[in-house]
Amino acid sequence: MDEPILDCLIIGGGPAGLTAAIYLARFHLDILVVDGGKSRASWIPCTRNVSGFPDGINGEELLQRMRDQACKYGAKIETEFVTKLERDKETGHFTATWGSGEASARTVLLATGVTNRRPPMDEELHDDALARGLVRYCPICDGYEVTDKRVGVIGSDSHGVAEAVFIRSFTADVTLIAPDKAMRLGPEDRKKLKDAAIECVDGPTQAVATTGECIVVDTAEGHYTFDTIYPALGSDTHTQLAEMVGADLSGESCVKVDSHQRTNLAGVYAAGDVVIGLDQISHAMGEGGVAATTIRNDLSKERPLLRESPGQ
Ligand SMILES: Cc1cc2nc3c(=O)[nH]c(=O)nc-3n(C[C@H](O)[C@H](O)[C@H](O)COP(=O)(O)OP(=O)(O)OC[C@H]3O[C@@H](n4cnc5c(N)ncnc54)[C@H](O)[C@@H]3O)c2cc1C
Repeated sequence: MDEPILDCLIIGGGPAGLTAAIYLARFHLDILVVDGGKSRASWIPCTRNVSGFPDGINGEELLQRMRDQACKYGAKIETEFVTKLERDKETGHFTATWGSGEASARTVLLATGVTNRRPPMDEELHDDALARGLVRYCPICDGYEVTDKRVGVIGSDSHGVAEAVFIRSFTADVTLIAPDKAMRLGPEDRKKLKDAAIECVDGPTQAVATTGECIVVDTAEGHYTFDTIYPALGSDTHTQLAEMVGADLSGESCVKVDSHQRTNLAGVYAAGDVVIGLDQISHAMGEGGVAATTIRNDLSKERPLLRESPGQ
């Protein structure tokens, strides 16, 4: 027997995809979340800027709570990585393929997120340092935690300068370190660093060890010890499936959406970090909620969503 067509296939089970799943399941729609299991939120030892958790919450625990909430209302979640997404020109339906499975749906929500580029360092050391707050990726999220500490920012361009200056509002001890070679900055960036009293160090750089509650970084100018390093090396946005079905990307290589999270392609929506915006849990959740409500309302234009009375 043919599998029924889903109302919505959500690709990505981070805060954006799972929030959408909670909304859509509670709209009594037939949905499936397919998630590769690599949410950036799962890296967070303890997030302290998500409303409602005054003592913070571990990222994986937050995700598990969201999965439980979505499943409670009938959402199904599969841990798989979607490798192909196609649109049938006649029906307008979408088919996603992964491993040995596939599913077809009237609409698709892309909530596939981004991946941060890591600094040059041993993987095990990186993961241990991340868990202990010696490596951090998001000063908007956790700059508060480095208040008055020694911070190294690994970056070399205007992005690195902006991150270093941002962190300067949390601590007076900020050093910008070039990742791979000598620091190359224009006069404007140099002035920003000088005005903020941020030291500049040439690369190549490698975080080599942790000692107690510190991290040691090897640079072209010798060893530096910090309480925390922030890599400011950019990120890669997971737009491959969007490109596969022909959804437009913005200039920043993110999926382009309107204010209701619709892409240019009817039936395809996007939310969270994969869309340009504030790469934060609250923002991803907000966009997930907006996307879900838009999907519900767009579906109701194709066929009225009228619930039968319980006896029928
Ligand atoms: C170390 C760190 C600390 C952070 N701390 C905070 C914080 O304190 N507060 C805060 O607000 N934000 C924080 N963030 C940012 C926050 O984690 C992200 O903004 C948030 O997770 C984005 O949610 P998302 O759903 O858009 O993407 P993600 O959470 O990244 O989820 C995307 C999901 O899509 C899946 N996926 C991708 N491609 C496919 C595919 N083809 N098939 C199936 N699945 C796919 C991935 O495996 C992943 O599970 C932090 C990030 C990092 C890295």
